[in-house]
Amino acid sequence: MSEVTRHPAERTESRAEATEGPTRSGYIAIVGRPNVGKSTLLNRLVGAKIASTAPKPQTTRHNITGILTEGDTQMVFVDTPGIHRGGRRLLNRVINEAALAALQQVDLAVFVVDRTRWTEEDALVLERIRASGRPAIAAVNKVDAVDKKALLPALAALQRRHPFEAYVPVSAVKGTNLDALKAEIRQRLPEGPFLFPEDQISSRSERFIATELIREQLVRTLRDEVPHAVFVEIDSLEERPRLVAIGATVWVERPSQRAIVIGRKGAMLKKIGARARRSLESFFGKQVYLELWVKDKVGWQDNPRVLASFDTTGL
Ligand code: GDP
Repeated sequence: MSEVTRHPAERTESRAEATEGPTRSGYIAIVGRPNVGKSTLLNRLVGAKIASTAPKPQTTRHNITGILTEGDTQMVFVDTPGIHRGGRRLLNRVINEAALAALQQVDLAVFVVDRTRWTEEDALVLERIRASGRPAIAAVNKVDAVDKKALLPALAALQRRHPFEAYVPVSAVKGTNLDALKAEIRQRLPEGPFLFPEDQISSRSERFIATELIREQLVRTLRDEVPHAVFVEIDSLEERPRLVAIGATVWVERPSQRAIVIGRKGAMLKKIGARARRSLESFFGKQVYLELWVKDKVGWQDNPRVLASFDTTGL
């Protein structure tokens, strides 16, 4: 499977020619409860649309890496799937284990909190950070949404909860203070050679990114009607000179959900397909031919075979 790279014209000058001195590189886990802005932050930092950012919690079920190479530093980000309370469902357990495993393998954690709200779920994620023993930077997100005067008490409260390496107020949506966040991360990465080629933005395959982009449009278009019972599987992805042909199956749990996804006379599916196609076209930079099928499979969230096809290995 091919790796995803920037367009050749965007390739940066080789680092060896640009600067002298040792390079730094490492793995960074972006962790936090659902909806705090992890995907938005990753997209902002890496400068490419990889993670799903639909306005719904828990749309990202995979560990996603985005790679940022700037000057002498290469940061390999892992966007963990979120850490959830125990939960009976196999899917939640797999997600929890994947999140903790991802944490233990990184050089540094970036703990994202929503400036406007601290919940039990935040505390749970913080517990996992402690358990992992990894150093962590607190990124206090959504500072655009609140009164600046309220920020200091929030930072102080966070300091009482855990001795973080640094406390950085950011706005992922507006891109505020991300240079400061990158500087704090950089300082804490070990010296060493780059881990990936410099022009690589993600070690994920195009196939994986295609599932994320399709799922994003599904969740955005359907809103509350079909919650998180959707799973997208790419059946075929064929890159031709002027066109990318993609065939994908949208799995839902029940026939009633299937009817909602398809809509009256197929109208809903048509709308989802058109939006997903536009988003895929901007990612591939080519015309996309997209064929979507909707199938139902009762209880896919508890089916180990389906779960095995989730790539939760992350690193
Ligand atoms: P994740 O579940 O942690 O990955 O969160 P997302 O990145 O999907 O973001 C969840 C919601 O918060 C989305 O509606 C985002 O647009 C919103 N969001 C993310 N970052 C910011 C921010 O800096 N400011 C504001 N106001 N909203 C944000």
